[in-house]
Amino acid sequence: MSNELIAKGEDRLIREAKNKFVSRFGREPRAAASAPGRVNLIGEHVDYCEGYVLPVALPFKTVVVGDFNNTEECTIVSVLADGQELSSSFPAPTVAQLKPGPSSWINYVKGVVAHFPRKVHGFDAVIVSDVPIGSGVSSSASLEVAVFTFLEALTKFEIDSVEKALLCQKAEHEFPGMPCGIMDQYIVTLGRKDHALLIDCRSLESTQIPIVTEDIVILVVNSNVKHQLTGSEYPQRRAQCHTAATLLSLPSLRSARVELLKDLEDMNCDELVVKRATHVVNEISRTEETANALRNKDFKRVGELFYQSHDSLSNLMEVSCPELDQLVDILRSSPGVLGARMTGGGFGGCVVALVNKSQLSDVKKNILSQYNGNPVFFECQPSDGARIMLYNS
Ligand code: ADP
Ligand code: MG
Repeated sequence: MSNELIAKGEDRLIREAKNKFVSRFGREPRAAASAPGRVNLIGEHVDYCEGYVLPVALPFKTVVVGDFNNTEECTIVSVLADGQELSSSFPAPTVAQLKPGPSSWINYVKGVVAHFPRKVHGFDAVIVSDVPIGSGVSSSASLEVAVFTFLEALTKFEIDSVEKALLCQKAEHEFPGMPCGIMDQYIVTLGRKDHALLIDCRSLESTQIPIVTEDIVILVVNSNVKHQLTGSEYPQRRAQCHTAATLLSLPSLRSARVELLKDLEDMNCDELVVKRATHVVNEISRTEETANALRNKDFKRVGELFYQSHDSLSNLMEVSCPELDQLVDILRSSPGVLGARMTGGGFGGCVVALVNKSQLSDVKKNILSQYNGNPVFFECQPSDGARIMLYNS
């Protein structure tokens, strides 16, 4: 198995999806849309605290093609990167009729169809994706936003991008039942080539930050592990942050200044709540500072902030794992690495690092020879967000 992951490109994905649609449904698709995965550069576990996040959209994409089928039944086929095929059908819904279910893949699709702001009649669709699944690069938001954008193409009803992100987030909350923040759906919708997006998760305003990285590579290393703990870790962290804000009588930890953390300690509050709050408050400042450093092309400072973020996620938020810590340690001791951190929700998934282009191959060699697992590398070229590729005409 290769250790390098190369994006297939939209054209190839759409060709594969169209071919599958023709062979499965016996006609040409008349609408198509795509949406990318994402990597968060910094601002981890703060979106649900109304903080700042700084993600980029990836060249890895989910493509959806299809057409109405003159029935009230929706049939969806999803072809995964390893060739595995999933298939499922459900009645064309109204929000009231479609019921949430377990976190099976089809519920991500159903949730979006249920929340689309127009009644959707029966359709057939094929999904093809090269976004790594369950690796912390948000295949779930990529799927949701790709399906939503496909429905816009199919119904010719386009909707404001922030509204679209919010509806897809709601779909993930209510159908597979994952209480995610807004970051993933937002960047997947609004990403721009050669830019990171500084998102203010309180006001939902965002600023495009140009990333000019002539001599620097944004390297992503997939640890290829995903620890299934109890499954309640993410909601627990969310609840602990909520408790901290409530104790401080604040709407969210976004409004907390560092000095207020002392008040939490004085209240004798749970030690874990103090640790989580300390991570969030400092991570929000680090994210703003990273955006400024990127604007100034001060990659050395960005790298330092990456390491600080990782240490905080590992020690205070406690969402890292031995494999992610080991990858960051290897990167820390490799010449040519400016900084590295885990990215995504944690307990596995990916590490993101800033690496001098001229030393990239030695850095990869170090990881291959020292990491106990089976790492997969890809270079993160900031890409465009979701788009309609073919209209129902
Ligand atoms: P991540 O978003 O980090 O990849 P999640 O656990 O949030 O991980 O979402 C992964 C889930 O999303 C998968 O288990 C599957 O149910 C669903 N999913 C994502 N992409 C696809 C796809 N192309 N086809 C079918 N299901 C998908
Ligand atoms: Mg996800």
